[in-house]
Amino acid sequence: MLSLYNSLSRFKQPFKPIHEGHVGMYVCGPTVYGDAHLGHARPAITFDVLFRYLRHLGYKVRYVRNITDVGHLEHDADSGEDKIAKKARLEQLEPMEVVQFYLNRYHHDMEALNVLPPSIEPHASGHIIEQIEYIKKILDAGYAYESCGSVYFDVEKYNRDHKYGKLSGRNIEDMLSTTRALDGQDEKRNPLDFALWKKASPEHIMHWPSPWSEGFPGWHLECSTMGQKYLGEKFDIHGGGLDLLFPHHECEIAQSVAAQGHETVNYWVHNNMITIEGTKMGKSYNNFITLEQFFDGSHPLLEKAYSPMVIRFFILQAHYRSTVDFSNAALQAAEKALQKITDSYRRLQNLQPAGKSNIEVPDFLTACQEAMDDDLNTPQVIAQLFEASKIINSATDGSAKLSKEDIDRLKEVFDMFLIDILGMKIADDSENAEAVKAYEGAVDLLMEIRGNAKAQKDWTTSDLIRNKLTELGFNIKDTKNGVEWRLG
Ligand code: ZN
Repeated sequence: MLSLYNSLSRFKQPFKPIHEGHVGMYVCGPTVYGDAHLGHARPAITFDVLFRYLRHLGYKVRYVRNITDVGHLEHDADSGEDKIAKKARLEQLEPMEVVQFYLNRYHHDMEALNVLPPSIEPHASGHIIEQIEYIKKILDAGYAYESCGSVYFDVEKYNRDHKYGKLSGRNIEDMLSTTRALDGQDEKRNPLDFALWKKASPEHIMHWPSPWSEGFPGWHLECSTMGQKYLGEKFDIHGGGLDLLFPHHECEIAQSVAAQGHETVNYWVHNNMITIEGTKMGKSYNNFITLEQFFDGSHPLLEKAYSPMVIRFFILQAHYRSTVDFSNAALQAAEKALQKITDSYRRLQNLQPAGKSNIEVPDFLTACQEAMDDDLNTPQVIAQLFEASKIINSATDGSAKLSKEDIDRLKEVFDMFLIDILGMKIADDSENAEAVKAYEGAVDLLMEIRGNAKAQKDWTTSDLIRNKLTELGFNIKDTKNGVEWRLG
């Protein structure tokens, strides 16, 4: 049975959906004002694997991943400039043109990473009416107040009735002691209050009418609103990066309790963060490597290009709750490891069965299933696939024999876990089959010429062929039954 770590209970819990056979999952999606970088890849891949695994377990999954395309201001959503509006002004584009441009690129990157599209991908800008209705509910319940055309969530009042800080384990007194005091000009009653609706300044391009002002919704609100709209007042899983746990998800909990009187989410699931050569990722560190730059190797920190599958495999080699540190050395190690597994997978397809196996093949299927059930332990699944690869390799070099049943079981493990659940894409070799056949024929012919030369004691010719092929990376062995050759 699947167990998931719940950030709310801080325990691994057996997963039980609210409605039998169905799972509702909401994951905070990207803000589309720039190219997707490594920080986008990890949640996308983590929740893609969860999505795939839940479907594998037979659940019908509704997976909602939103597009943040309005008034998303970094950090507390209360101050600063709308990134999309700024970009639009700088580039003299319609804001929605900027959104669509980066969204197309985001989808392109996700497809390259073999991340399945979610069931619904709602835009915050398409749900302004719903967000206004949601704010009205919070106002009616008495947990928000209007100030100068903006609406703020009343954190102190909420904290008195419910507890604010459940998810992050913080308490409001500690938070207040580390927050700067209001300067008297502030519209808020308390520095911890966050915006539900913000009045737009005259230069702000993206704004909508509301009962309070011409303005735009606060960032935390869109996820509460769209989660409820598409998954109901109570749903199973809410995911996102650990950086969203506070304040974003904490605020989401407060909003939903204020508006509906109860919490919405059963399991809060968070993936850990990525560092680059031990340093936090960020514009100021100049280590913001976009996915495109990884794919073409164009960032100065990269020694070479890394394929999308290497990035995906690298991320899955770590458990989603541990940190991942990207370095060229680590990526190249992942590349080699992936190559080994891929080679074994290909060899497996061509393995000739023996009547009986002469070695015992462990029950990899159960081992992989148990690893996934244990809070998505993908590194353990990969370790099992490496064990299985060893067996395939010894069958290929003739030191072990495998029955048809064992070969089929190995194929099932790779197809189910490597391809379907971990989502690794392995290029189809069938297009190359003809080229491979021709190349094998050509090398066989050279071997025949070499054999004839040897028979006639023409050592110059036989040595020339052997040395040249060895130089090209071929491994040539003379055996009792003739010549064996392989590349590498
Ligand atoms: Zn969100």
